[in-house]
Amino acid sequence: MSLEPVYGPHPSRCLGVSLGVDPVSFSTPCYMACAMCSVLNPARSLLKYSPGELVKRVERDLQERELKIDTIYVYGSSDPFLYDELTELVKGLREVSEQHGSRLVVRTLGYFQRALEAVVELVDQLHIPFYIADMDWNTLYRPSINVTRSEYLEKLRELFNNTRKSAEKLILEVVVARQGAESVFTEYLDDYLMLIKRLKARKVLLKTIDRPVRQSNLKPVSRQTLERLKEMLEDEGSWVQTCLKPGAPPRVRVRRAFIEVYNHVLRKPLKANEVNEIYGEIGVVAAETLVSRRLVSKQIWENQLFYLPSK
Ligand code: SF4
Repeated sequence: MSLEPVYGPHPSRCLGVSLGVDPVSFSTPCYMACAMCSVLNPARSLLKYSPGELVKRVERDLQERELKIDTIYVYGSSDPFLYDELTELVKGLREVSEQHGSRLVVRTLGYFQRALEAVVELVDQLHIPFYIADMDWNTLYRPSINVTRSEYLEKLRELFNNTRKSAEKLILEVVVARQGAESVFTEYLDDYLMLIKRLKARKVLLKTIDRPVRQSNLKPVSRQTLERLKEMLEDEGSWVQTCLKPGAPPRVRVRRAFIEVYNHVLRKPLKANEVNEIYGEIGVVAAETLVSRRLVSKQIWENQLFYLPSK
């Protein structure tokens, strides 16, 4: 099955309808191996794409599939800052986003900061994920690079400090989940909040997980917990937006159902009803065929049926 660097559009809770651009596209494994990762099967690929090719593919998708999107979202199987020509890519995507009236968002773990300032200059938002769960940092993150918790947090502090003049564009994306009871989760909160406080992020997007993640026993937290966290972050002086439900799902003109559904699921597991709403009946047939070919599996998670990549 062909691996594509452009996937979606995805009904995002924070970004509206977003078209994903994955410049690394599985050619370099992600270095953080987070427990809350939604990339469940790190497929292998040796394909590398030039910035021009990636921009053309985005334009082709927007035109041929008649997509109406809110956001071009540069992220997928790994940190886009691992892509050597990120600045060139972001320049090209900036033009496309302006032509289509959409915003341009890059997401990064923030450890590799080459070309950071140039990228921040070009994007509308730079998202930096920060995961919280009832487990310590070394269980939540299992970096394949040699980095300790304090070294990583120092890198994040550098990132926020070095981009102060574009502080409005920097968004800390706080993602929370729990493996035990909500009361156990609370015990870990203070420690994680202390780490967040040191970053002095002005803007925070707050959400819980809404689909299966790598560590299978992780579950969403309640709305009350999110509300409490929101208050705590606001008390620290941050502007906080809680991302709850996505808006209406996008409906696309399906051109290559198997490839489109497969590449979407590779980056984000999809609920059965999302496949139907985004890709229509032909998408459901494609998803079921991918299951019969063992490229995709089905799993019930939080009482909902999901399609996700086979191991
Ligand atoms: S969540 Fe992002 S940074 Fe973490 S392992 Fe997955 S792809 Fe890498």
